[in-house]
Amino acid sequence: IEEDPLPQELQPTKDTDRKAYGVAVQRDPEIMAARLQLPVVGEEQKIMEAIHNNDIVVICGATGSGKTTQVPQFLFEAGYGSPDSPTPGLIGVTQPRRVAAVSMAKRVGQELGDKGNTVAYQIRFEGTVDANTAIKFMTDGVLLREVAQDVALRKYSAIIVDEAHERSVNTDILIGMLSRVIKLRAEMAKEDSSIKPLKLVIMSATLRIDDMTHNPVLFSTPPPVIEVEGRQHPVTVHFARKTRHVYVEEAFRKISRGHKKLPPGGFLVFLTGQNEIIQLSKRLKAAFGGSTAATGPKVRISATEAPVEVEDIDFGEMDDRNITDMDDGLYDGDEDDEEGDEGEEEEFKIEEEGGTGPLKMHILPLYSLLPTKDQMKVFEPPPEGSRQVILATNVAETSLTIPGIRYVFDAGRSKERRFDRLSGVQSFEIGWISKASANQRSGRAGRTGPGHCYRLYSSAVYERDFPQFADPELLRMPIEGVVLQLKAMNLQKVVNFPFPTPPDRQALAKAERLLAYLQAISETGSVTKIGTTMSIFPLSPRFARILLVGHLHDCLPYTIALVAGLSAPDVFIPENQAIPPLAIKEADEEGRQPFRTNEDVIAETQQANARRAFNAVQKNFCFLDDKSDAIKLLQVVGEFAHEPTEAWCEAHFVRYKVLKEIKQLRRQLADLLRTNIPGFANLNPNQDKLEPPSPKQVQALKQMVAAGFIDQVAIRADKSPIPPPMYRKPRRAIDVPYLPLVPLDGVEDPAEGMVYIHPSSPLAHLSVDECPDYVVYSFLQKAGNVLADEERKPKTRMHTLTDVTGGQLAALAKGTPLIS
Ligand code: ADP
Ligand code: MG
Repeated sequence: IEEDPLPQELQPTKDTDRKAYGVAVQRDPEIMAARLQLPVVGEEQKIMEAIHNNDIVVICGATGSGKTTQVPQFLFEAGYGSPDSPTPGLIGVTQPRRVAAVSMAKRVGQELGDKGNTVAYQIRFEGTVDANTAIKFMTDGVLLREVAQDVALRKYSAIIVDEAHERSVNTDILIGMLSRVIKLRAEMAKEDSSIKPLKLVIMSATLRIDDMTHNPVLFSTPPPVIEVEGRQHPVTVHFARKTRHVYVEEAFRKISRGHKKLPPGGFLVFLTGQNEIIQLSKRLKAAFGGSTAATGPKVRISATEAPVEVEDIDFGEMDDRNITDMDDGLYDGDEDDEEGDEGEEEEFKIEEEGGTGPLKMHILPLYSLLPTKDQMKVFEPPPEGSRQVILATNVAETSLTIPGIRYVFDAGRSKERRFDRLSGVQSFEIGWISKASANQRSGRAGRTGPGHCYRLYSSAVYERDFPQFADPELLRMPIEGVVLQLKAMNLQKVVNFPFPTPPDRQALAKAERLLAYLQAISETGSVTKIGTTMSIFPLSPRFARILLVGHLHDCLPYTIALVAGLSAPDVFIPENQAIPPLAIKEADEEGRQPFRTNEDVIAETQQANARRAFNAVQKNFCFLDDKSDAIKLLQVVGEFAHEPTEAWCEAHFVRYKVLKEIKQLRRQLADLLRTNIPGFANLNPNQDKLEPPSPKQVQALKQMVAAGFIDQVAIRADKSPIPPPMYRKPRRAIDVPYLPLVPLDGVEDPAEGMVYIHPSSPLAHLSVDECPDYVVYSFLQKAGNVLADEERKPKTRMHTLTDVTGGQLAALAKGTPLIS
């Protein structure tokens, strides 16, 4: 045997020595060098052997180790996805997030030097897949729909389920489904030699996968787990001394300070949502966006260079606000902060060593509603002489690896849709992330070299309040949609479905009650004709039901537009984002003169104008004197059809990306109605423009909304003239005879207490005695921060409201036809 002339890791990777059917790939030398750095590449042989010998393989490796970009290429090079190989079907790769599906397809295409669509993606309304595609990235939702159409997934030779550790609902259901598809394909292969078994690769960034690997309900023998050793540089973790509740403010302080003091290197900041990101981005731009680039600051952090061990603190019963933590290095040299928070303002008056100004900040937001082209900007290098500062939601936690990040700032919170089992209400709440997530986040700083993670919470809070792992999403969501999908695939007994973590029986029973009410399933729990039809639409069962009653009074085009609007994310930009914050405060903090400069006056004028425009526009959306959110939404969707431009959206404080999606959804829904329901064969799916509905149609539409949300009615609690008007859940019989509200919940008087009209609703502009007696809401929101002090705990507010009459509700409850 001849000795290799070069150490193995320096040899070019197998571009030529492919075995039979393998595909030879000529990669760019730069890409080849970058690949060799990835831990996963070192494990190629082991991974491919495991896949060769097993139908199901699990790969665990830290974020950035190369799983998503490399494993599909391994399969491709081994012949999967090639038409004339023994394994000709597509290589499917699923992602929980659209942004990851798109960007990863692009990256893998680049790495393979793909000029066509060999590597393609498919997300809900967009795709690049064609006849030449071999590797198809898609959201897990897309593959789930494909399973519903072909349970054998004949198009595919291999499926890679990525980010399985995130435990999204779709991923969980998909893995349950795939466990059966694998069996089916193995059976089919035995009978017919032209059919090949399907390979399943489950990839996870953490080792917490026992729910999947050691779960006899899923896989009778545990699949092999290949662990890829992370090639991670050390990350020094700095806890805050105190955990402040105003964490966006705290992030601003820390980032400002860090920017001035830390050597060059990208910042990645984790916040909970778009609002906060925009707010912080504006503040940072006001403070650092305009200053000229300079050489790197000379101050070095000195306090904690070595990997940090969390100092042991006796937490006792103390409130976390009294607990200080170790020095995080961003205080160094400034005695003023030694003792904590009283002298906060002082912190901004830093004398730069050597008098150099700070670098310019190149600030980029990253959240799911951001237009795709803006999302992709995070992969571009920042302008010369500036520091990249990425303000992200947990999109950046595991699915995307952003180059050049050396410093992570972690607020430690995330906004999650939560679901209260007892009251059956959903809410968006900000809560602590899990320890596993916190560690994922800090790991993002160690990709290119040693890094630092600044946590905006104390180690005491981390130890005491952070759960080890987050619950699977399936346990935190209403599951009527999942239940209907499964039933529509003839899985009568949903309890028997191989869920990686099964939802509790109470939740399943409740979902079935709602589906029965919506007439999607029969008394015996089997899917009805209506239910089968409902399952065709990419909508929650509530909206699907509305759609199917929507043709009365010639309402169908309006119903489609309304349902599309209601099931999309919020179209309206909230007031606090629409109106620019004043620059005066920043001026003070920068130590400038506190008097009003010309700039401040201009800013104030701009703000006043924006507020006026905002109010005028928002009121204008309510036509026919209607005050419901539903009809306001319909109006916006209708107007956008006449002027589908970004400029129009900007002028009207609505989101272009969401409206574009609604437009696509309208067409999709109309098309599905046209092709699936004989009576609607003449529906024109491309008719975007609508005449305003008649008052009678408006009433009918409201009643239809109520039909889908019959269990989410609120009734005026009192007639007190003192605002705000209070609402509560109705009690059966007393308030609305016949209304089957309470049995749905199984609770007579939910402990939720009073609920209020959200201030963004047009109904909030009514005087107390004009407020309707009954409203139907889409969801309840405990706005903001449930971690706030007791007295600042937010009220529970109803979102997306439709006013209805007692008569309409009673008619619905009795099942009588809609109003005439
Ligand atoms: P994993 O899936 O294990 O988290 P990835 O395969 O996503 O890892 O990333 C592997 C490497 O590829 C990372 O080091 C990352 O920097 C690089 N990479 C991924 N996407 C891009 C991109 N769009 N541009 C540049 N580099 C990228
Ligand atoms: Mg990945």
